[in-house]
Amino acid sequence: MDSEKGALELKSKHILIATGSKPATLPGVELDGNLFGTSTEALSYPEVPKHLVVIGAGYIGLELGSVWSRLGAKVTVLEFIDRILPGMDSDIAAEAKKLFEKQGLEFRLKSKVTSAKVENGQCKLNAKAANELPANRVLVAVGRAPNTEKLALEGIPIELHKKGFIPVNERSQRLQMEFTQSGMSSPARCWRTKPRKKLSLASNGS
Ligand SMILES: Cc1cc2nc3c(=O)[nH]c(=O)nc-3n(C[C@H](O)[C@H](O)[C@H](O)COP(=O)(O)OP(=O)(O)OC[C@H]3O[C@@H](n4cnc5c(N)ncnc54)[C@H](O)[C@@H]3O)c2cc1C
Repeated sequence: MDSEKGALELKSKHILIATGSKPATLPGVELDGNLFGTSTEALSYPEVPKHLVVIGAGYIGLELGSVWSRLGAKVTVLEFIDRILPGMDSDIAAEAKKLFEKQGLEFRLKSKVTSAKVENGQCKLNAKAANELPANRVLVAVGRAPNTEKLALEGIPIELHKKGFIPVNERSQRLQMEFTQSGMSSPARCWRTKPRKKLSLASNGS
């Protein structure tokens, strides 16, 4: 571990990895931290953009799009699939879409962004169903990527998923690894597979 006190070696029976995440990027869209930014920039735009294009109709894009819309921006949301709020109940997502539209958000679904650039101080986006869409700012909100690449996990037996996630089991339970004197055992043997005990309400017979 590198620290302000120099290289340190710590030993522990248990290690909690809680390094958080960062905004995922989109091929073809170069973030400049200004006109093209993520939720980090969208939390503190210096002025209300005239036209904000949000790429991605997940909860972060919609939350921030809705905030800037209510502050006076025209907001267009581009979404790759045919619905908003992927992963959420589809009836609730359909109702949420109506509410956001009432607020003034415009949605272009099935709209895959293929390229984006800054031209004469304006952002120009090319997307299926949104040819050459001009915008004053673009918020890229296409998900989050885990901060695992600087952890130097290569030396230990954790095989990361292709997007960098550390595997956990289907109950989101933690990965447990046993440290032995000769090293570490295989993580596959250390999944906690026992289901949690069912909780039942105590009955007093009444
Ligand atoms: C725009 C936005 C809105 C959100 N709104 C909500 C909301 O309304 N409600 C809600 O519940 N959640 C919300 N979230 C999610 C919430 O912010 C996260 O779930 C939460 O911050 C995760 O906490 P964490 O401790 O796992 O990670 P983080 O808060 O990201 O902390 C991780 C820490 O690890 C450090 N770190 C990274 N790599 C290393 C390393 N190699 N070595 C040492 N340290 C490292 C980082 O510097 C950071 O300090 C929102 C997120 C965003 C982006």
